[in-house]
Amino acid sequence: MTPVRVRFAPSPTGPLHIGGLRTALYNYLLARKTGGIFVLRIEDTDQKRYVEGAEAYIMEALEWCGISPDEGPQKGGNYGPYRQSERQEIYAVHVKTLLANGSAYYAFDSEEELNDRRDAEKAAGNHNFRYDASTRMSMRNSLTLKKNEVEKLLADNTPYVVRFRIDTGNTVNFSDSVRESMSFQTSELGDQVLMKADGLPTYHLANIVDDHLMEITHVIRGEEWLPSTALHVLLYRAFGWEDTMPIFAHLPLLLNPDGKGKLSKRDGAKFGFPVFPLRYEDKVKDEVAAGFREDGFLPEALINFLALLGWNPGTEQEIFSLKELVSAFDMKRINKSGARFDIEKGRWFNQQYLIAQSGAELAPLVQTEFSKQGFELSAGKAAQVAGLLKERVHLLPEFFSSGRYFVAPVEIYDEKTIRKKWKPDNRVKFDNLADVLAGHDDWTAASVKAVVVAFMNDNELGFGAVLPIIRIALSGSVQGPDAFDMLEAIGQDTAVKRLRKSYDLFTSIKGG
Ligand code: GLU
Repeated sequence: MTPVRVRFAPSPTGPLHIGGLRTALYNYLLARKTGGIFVLRIEDTDQKRYVEGAEAYIMEALEWCGISPDEGPQKGGNYGPYRQSERQEIYAVHVKTLLANGSAYYAFDSEEELNDRRDAEKAAGNHNFRYDASTRMSMRNSLTLKKNEVEKLLADNTPYVVRFRIDTGNTVNFSDSVRESMSFQTSELGDQVLMKADGLPTYHLANIVDDHLMEITHVIRGEEWLPSTALHVLLYRAFGWEDTMPIFAHLPLLLNPDGKGKLSKRDGAKFGFPVFPLRYEDKVKDEVAAGFREDGFLPEALINFLALLGWNPGTEQEIFSLKELVSAFDMKRINKSGARFDIEKGRWFNQQYLIAQSGAELAPLVQTEFSKQGFELSAGKAAQVAGLLKERVHLLPEFFSSGRYFVAPVEIYDEKTIRKKWKPDNRVKFDNLADVLAGHDDWTAASVKAVVVAFMNDNELGFGAVLPIIRIALSGSVQGPDAFDMLEAIGQDTAVKRLRKSYDLFTSIKGG
C-alpha cells in the first residue's frame, strides 16, 4: 500500500479558525496513526485576500497544539515549494496539458463584455446567466474563434482566462469516507475558471495539481468543499489521474452554541468565547479576537475537546491524550452530522487536564499567571496554590483571580455572610484564638486544625460559627479550599495578622 500522505491546506486570509484547527488535527491523527506524512500547504493564490502574518499565525497555532507538519514551507520536504504562490510555473504547464487535450479553452471575454451579456440576459428574463455548455458557443473563446484569431489575440497579449470545459448531462459519482457515495450533476457546474487573467491558478486547479504532485492519498477537509469535489473529480479525469485520486473525507460543520448555524467569528464575540487558537490582532481592520491560549486553555485540553467535535471513539471515554487519540482515531468514526460547539464542555476538558497534573507540574503555569499580575511566587508556593485550587478553576487566569489572597491582602469581603456570622460578643474568644495560633509552633494544616478544634470545644463553638469567620478573614469569602490548608499556605504571620485585622472590620460591618 502507498504510504499515507495527508495535507492541511489553509488559505492565509486571516487567523486560523477553530474549525480549521480541527481539520489540521484529523489530518495529523491519520498521518500519525498510519506512519504517514502530514503536509502543510499554503494556498495563497488569491492575492486580494492575502493577509500578512497569517501563515506565521497558522504555524504558531499548530506548534502550540503539538501538531506541527512533517513537510511544509518552514520544514521543507521533497515535494516543495509548499506555498502555491511559488508554484506558478507548475500550474502554467498543467494548464497547457488541459488546453492541449481539449479539456480547457481560452476565454477572451472582457469584464465589460460579460456584464453586457448578463444585462442582456436579464432583460430577456434570464437572471442566472452562466458561462457553461449552453452559452460558451456564443462567447469569445478559443472554441468559437478561428485558430489564427486566437493566435493573434495571444500574440497581442490580450487578457484571457482559461476555463474548464464541462459537458452537461453527466453524473459525477465519487465516494466520501464520511458520507459514502455522493453524486452531482455536471449541469450544476459551469465552465469554471482554472487560470485567472493575472496568470494565477484558481483554487480548484492549484489544489488538484498539488494534491497529485504531492502524492496526497487522503483529502480531509471541511464539508463546505463537498460540492467542489465533483469538479475536482472531473479535473482528475481530465488530467488522466483518476487512478491515483485521493480518498475524500468531508468533516461535519462546527455549529454555533444554538446548534443553528455554522460557528462564526461573530458567535465568539456574541457568546464571549474564542473561536481562534491564539489571540489575533488585525492592525489594518483594527480588530482583536480572543484566543484559546490567552484565555488560559491548555493545548492538550483544546485538542481533546476538538477531537471529539466531529469524531467519536465508539466508547464512553472522553479524556484522550494526543497519543491516545492517535491510536483510537478511525476515519470510519467521523460523524456525519454537525457538532455543536459548547464552550462549557471545553472548559470542563481544561479542568480535567488541570486536575490530572500535580501541583508541582502546574507550578510554572501558576507562576506565570501571578507574574502577569505583578506577583512573583516561589515554585514551592506556586505548587501549593496550584494543588489547592486546581479542582476549583477551569482556566489558567482563575488561579490568580481565585487565589489572589494567597499573596495579597483581602480587598473585598463577603459582607452578607459577615453580618450573619459575626457575633461581636465572641470577640474576646476570637482574639484568644489569634493569640493561640500566633504562639503555635507547628504550622501545618493538620496541627493547626487540632488547635482550632480544641478552641471550639473549649468555647462551645461549632464549625459553623468558627470556620466562616476564619475563611472570610483569610480570603474575603466562604468559598475556596479547606480552611486549614488555606491557613497553612498563607503562612503563620500573615494568617494571624489577617485574623486580628478583620475583627474590627467585621464589627463595623455588623453595626453598619
Ligand atoms: N485552501 C482551502 C481552504 O482554505 C483548502 C480546501 C482543501 O482542503 O481542499 O480551506
